[in-house]
Amino acid sequence: MKKTTGMDRAATAQWRPATRAVRGGTWRSEHGETSEALFLTSGYTYDDAQTVADRFAGEAEGMTYSRLQNPTVAMLEERIALIEGAEACRVQASGMAAMTAALLCQLSMGDHVVAARAAFGSCRWLVDHLLPRFGIETTVIDSAVDGEWDAASRPNTKVFFFETPANPTLDVVNLRHVCDLARAHGIVTVVDNAFASPALQRPLEFGADVIAYSATKLMDGQGRVLAGAVCGSREFIDEKLLPFQRNTGPNLSPFNAWVVLKGLETLDLRARAQSAAALELGKFIEPRISRMLHPGLPSHPRHELAVQQMPNGTGPIFAFEVPGGRAQAFALLDALELIDISNNIGDCRSLLCHPASTTHANMGAEARAEMGVTEGLLRINVGLEDIEDLKEDMDRALSAAGL
Ligand SMILES: *Cc1c(COP(=O)(O)O)cnc(C)c1O
Repeated sequence: MKKTTGMDRAATAQWRPATRAVRGGTWRSEHGETSEALFLTSGYTYDDAQTVADRFAGEAEGMTYSRLQNPTVAMLEERIALIEGAEACRVQASGMAAMTAALLCQLSMGDHVVAARAAFGSCRWLVDHLLPRFGIETTVIDSAVDGEWDAASRPNTKVFFFETPANPTLDVVNLRHVCDLARAHGIVTVVDNAFASPALQRPLEFGADVIAYSATKLMDGQGRVLAGAVCGSREFIDEKLLPFQRNTGPNLSPFNAWVVLKGLETLDLRARAQSAAALELGKFIEPRISRMLHPGLPSHPRHELAVQQMPNGTGPIFAFEVPGGRAQAFALLDALELIDISNNIGDCRSLLCHPASTTHANMGAEARAEMGVTEGLLRINVGLEDIEDLKEDMDRALSAAGL
């Protein structure tokens, strides 16, 4: 019997998401290899001159150059599109390459963007510094207040850009409300879904248009490579994103694509297990600190919305504040023996960081204060270690910091 190949969209679309994450996009060569092949090649050769002429004319299928197509990269793109439930996906060299491409491919001078105030530092830099240099106006709002989206919109608003949950304050955006508003005004929603991954939250189901990823985070999940992805309709990817990407070249290397393909095989398991561990560690820490920012806990102002938008788990990342400011935060970090001091997230190792002095140091004190990134704020990524070891390490460090 003929087996389903991962590139047969009609067949793979019938699979449930966890199956798509393991098998979707697999495109076997004539050798029938089990694991995806790694095509480390920049170019391709042709049997005759007419073949290549036809490919360049778009009249024949086939590869021409790895800035345009590569089989390993194509497997990753198909797999991510399938997990996301998107018509199409293109991958980039990093999450920031993905965000930049997703915005610049569709914006022009005179357009306006409404963006979330709570965001990854470099995403804020795009909004605050890069877009305005090209005559694109931007307005930054409190993304967790539904009415601010409408209030900030103008006739020339082209894009809503936000994360949910957001880095590092875990603000939760009401996806249905914001996407409905955008649809009603012909505005394109660009959702940075890095904190959730498609295993935990699928913004397309709430009416979002474009989903952008740092695949460095949960998708790779093992702290090995930088990667990015943009998902959307076939029309958006082919007509907006592809011309930008092919000509500016923020491409992902086939090797890194292959590494992320391997990561996706375990995405569903990791995302659920790390979410469960983050919930347990959050409950353990909450009585001993001054403020908890965890969408999975009832103390979060949008807990019910978060659980509704992320039914399989609210993710491995949460933040908390210690009352003694930077000195106490640093004392806690320095007393850890198992959990690493590291600013990465989505990794299967537990990592703790102090956003005000690292990921959000560049944006200035005023913007940090506005976002709620205080000197006592710590952000944790909970990994796959035994939860009892994590609790013991945290217990020791909290005590050492006087908490
Ligand atoms: C890490 C991150 C990015 C940037 O991704 P890179 O892969 O580091 O370039 C963008 N948005 C969010 C929410 C992130 O966490």
